[in-house]
Amino acid sequence: MSNKTSPLVFIISAPSGAGKTTLIHRVMAARPNLTFSVSHTTRSPRQGETDKRDYYFVSRETFREMIENNAFLEWAVVYGEYYGTSAGEIRRLHRLGKDVILDIDVQGALQVMEKLDKKQLVSIFILPPDMETLKQRLIARGKDPLERIERRLATAREEIRQSDRYNFRIINDDLERATRDLAKIMGQT
Ligand code: ADP
Ligand code: 5GP
Repeated sequence: MSNKTSPLVFIISAPSGAGKTTLIHRVMAARPNLTFSVSHTTRSPRQGETDKRDYYFVSRETFREMIENNAFLEWAVVYGEYYGTSAGEIRRLHRLGKDVILDIDVQGALQVMEKLDKKQLVSIFILPPDMETLKQRLIARGKDPLERIERRLATAREEIRQSDRYNFRIINDDLERATRDLAKIMGQT
């Protein structure tokens, strides 16, 4: 259960296309005590994304300055772009007294596991049922050309190999069941 004096930090990672965004939206809709940590990134906004709500969209120069100023709890290069969780964002959310979701990749997750108190941290890895299904979901999502999908699948294999570092793993085969599993982990820990 979340505790008013020390909110929990939930790390959620998954290979691209495994359904992490879908699952996070579904669980957040049901739990008002959850907030989402807005990351900084150097990638361009996608259609429908808003600055400061989906990401803080910044230049490479700004991102590098932030690295030099130790402004990040963690940061990583993902698919050629910089992504990071600022320490200021986590402080801001903790002041609200709410549990925090970090939607970050494996490289970033391992950094947070090193830095934050384990009692405060719950890490969850979302797995696709199998690689072929993952490929089909990436194609169906329609955001990437085939070449980029192949790159995402290669990264996915590498990330899945590291998923045993997480406290929990959820297979997103049936969306309803996976949503229930995630909600249960987030409500009970
Ligand atoms: P991620 O955020 O992990 O990259 P998304 O949440 O964008 O993944 O999901 C990728 C695609 O797969 C989307 O089109 C989504 O609607 C679909 N999807 C997610 N979960 C399931 C599921 N359990 N069964 C079938 N399709 C799913
Ligand atoms: P997207 O560009 O599709 O929004 O995200 C690509 C990947 O970057 C996803 O795996 C997502 O979890 C990861 N990501 C998003 N924000 C951060 C962050 O702040 N830090 C790290 N390490 N990864 C992030």
